[in-house]
Amino acid sequence: MIAPGSWLGVIGGGQLGRMFAHAAQRMGYRVAVLDPVPNCPAGAVADRHFITPYDDPAGLREVARLCAAVTIEFENVPVAGLRELAAHCNVAPSAECVAIAQDRAREKRFLMQCGLRVADHAVITCAADLESDATRHLLPGILKASRLGYDGKGQARVNDSGQLRAAFAAMGGIKCVLEKLMPIEREISVVTVRSDRETVCYPATENVHRDGILETSILPARIAPNTERHAGEIAMEVAQRLNYQGVLCVEFFVLKTGELVINEIAPRPHNSGHLTIEASMTSQFEQQVRVMCGMPLGDPGMRCPAVMLNLLGDAWCDGVPDWQSIVADSRTKLHLYGKHEPRAGRKMGHITCLDDSLAAALARASRIKELIAPKRAAVA
Ligand code: ADP
Ligand code: MG
Repeated sequence: MIAPGSWLGVIGGGQLGRMFAHAAQRMGYRVAVLDPVPNCPAGAVADRHFITPYDDPAGLREVARLCAAVTIEFENVPVAGLRELAAHCNVAPSAECVAIAQDRAREKRFLMQCGLRVADHAVITCAADLESDATRHLLPGILKASRLGYDGKGQARVNDSGQLRAAFAAMGGIKCVLEKLMPIEREISVVTVRSDRETVCYPATENVHRDGILETSILPARIAPNTERHAGEIAMEVAQRLNYQGVLCVEFFVLKTGELVINEIAPRPHNSGHLTIEASMTSQFEQQVRVMCGMPLGDPGMRCPAVMLNLLGDAWCDGVPDWQSIVADSRTKLHLYGKHEPRAGRKMGHITCLDDSLAAALARASRIKELIAPKRAAVA
């Protein structure tokens, strides 16, 4: 086991890296972050911050020299750098797994090879691909850039062939995936953790998105026990088929028929798992530390129901949010990521509401939601 006092590295300096650092430091580890942005959320709390591009050889050398194990906090890390690091220290997840998850077309192909269901889709590599019958059958749909999208960015809803052509051109003709708009009843996600010895999985969370960005996560998800069990089995199967080491999130659509369709996978802790910090026996970030260091995995069981609300920059549109009223509720836990510029759609923090019953946690969350809702709509 990599013992406390050792250095752990994380490539990427966003909020996921910050919460990883918190978990690692609590357990006595020292944390090095590699990120090009000087005052990034994780850099501000790390013991060391290497301020270089993600693929900078000198920066990666420093990380390799210092750290006993390295992880990532976003999936768009250049995989060549991860391969180099793996020659010097334990890298979890592996470059191979990250390479699959950072390309939607490749990810879907992999999942289908595993016999798992994904959204109906076609890979679009050139304008001619837009004109086939198969493509037309996917309309209305969503055109997604195959690489580098997040929080609904790099995506366009398209209702007809004209809109599809325009959207593909607007994306610069890069490789895309066109997905059929699925008849979704709910969205859920399952965080699973796999080490070389064991696999555990959290209960599913139910997720509500707005404009392609996660707005609310609910634990436990309001789904049938069968669906819950099946989602957990699928998530663990994905991890096993990838020979995955680390924290992996599988996002699902629950269709009106009750069927489960995989939306996408994330090779890292996930926004829908932030509520595990307070609501679970072990947080997803502690699990990330445990896997990297070769510890037994922690209990993923639920301590209490919880509802997480994302705090987007929009909540600042008429001044700073009313922190006093928010923290007045003692079962409400405020997390801020130390970002200085509250832009619309930017994840600035999150708030987790806990209670003994899900109904009570939801009621708490709806009061908090009022406090963070942009007031513009009320004025208009
Ligand atoms: P991101 O990588 O930005 O999270 P996703 O592919 O997960 O992108 O899409 C974001 C959200 O958009 C999803 O959680 C879902 O609400 C909606 N969405 C995406 N694809 C589809 C689809 N094929 N059918 C219906 N809704 C979709
Ligand atoms: Mg998503």
